[in-house]
Amino acid sequence: MMKYKRVLLKLSGEWLANREKKLSIDYELVEALAKQIKKIIAKNVQVAIVVGGGNLWRGASAEKNGIPRSKADYIGMMATLMNALALQSIFEVSKIKSRVLSSLSVDQKIAEPFILEKANKYLEKGKVVIMAAGTGRPYFTTDTASTLFALEIKADVLLLGKNEVDGIYDSDPKVNSKAKHYETISYNEILKKQLKVMDSTAVAMARDNNIKLLVFNIGEKDSIVKTLEGKGKFTIVNN
Ligand code: UDP
Repeated sequence: MMKYKRVLLKLSGEWLANREKKLSIDYELVEALAKQIKKIIAKNVQVAIVVGGGNLWRGASAEKNGIPRSKADYIGMMATLMNALALQSIFEVSKIKSRVLSSLSVDQKIAEPFILEKANKYLEKGKVVIMAAGTGRPYFTTDTASTLFALEIKADVLLLGKNEVDGIYDSDPKVNSKAKHYETISYNEILKKQLKVMDSTAVAMARDNNIKLLVFNIGEKDSIVKTLEGKGKFTIVNN
């Protein structure tokens, strides 16, 4: 039995890519993720996923090239929808049933709209719910969408997988070999020290609503399962 009944996993778009192989989505990586999700579902844990779009598009950098921010952000939201559909298809191959719920209205042949009752129904049936298009509004990020959805679906924990780092450090461990790893840290400390965990809107929202956040290295084998079991190295964030 796992401690958590319902979890929300934030997957960054950047993690999905394989820059060496010039792939926007690394299929092998997602297949490995699917294996972990299967193990978690087998332990009766309900899984919701919020997927980013940074592998395909980032609104803030597009703005620097002259595309108005709100327009650039809608393109970014559509990038998350593309990732969500790709995830769903790869999950299908791995025999995982999932549903894409989108915060932007698109034709229902592509994805269903996000409706809380629907999300709850699918989760209770053991289906993975993939939330696409972030919050549906520009000037937000999928970190904020994750915090928002974690609250809406009453997830027991928000799981934030990082590339190459096993939690939160007081400075970048790739640059500073003496960087200190936090086993636990508060949201206020993250904001005060300006640690790059999630954007500050998401951090403040998680703090104000008392979300439990686990930050772990998603690149490590079986790290989602291990983190949920309380094994391995990760950081716990609460108030
Ligand atoms: N985005 C948005 N509103 C949201 C979520 C995302 O406008 O609620 C846009 C924004 O342009 C962002 C892009 O979608 O840059 C991709 O999302 P994000 O950067 O959060 O993806 P990640 O960094 O996780 O890959």
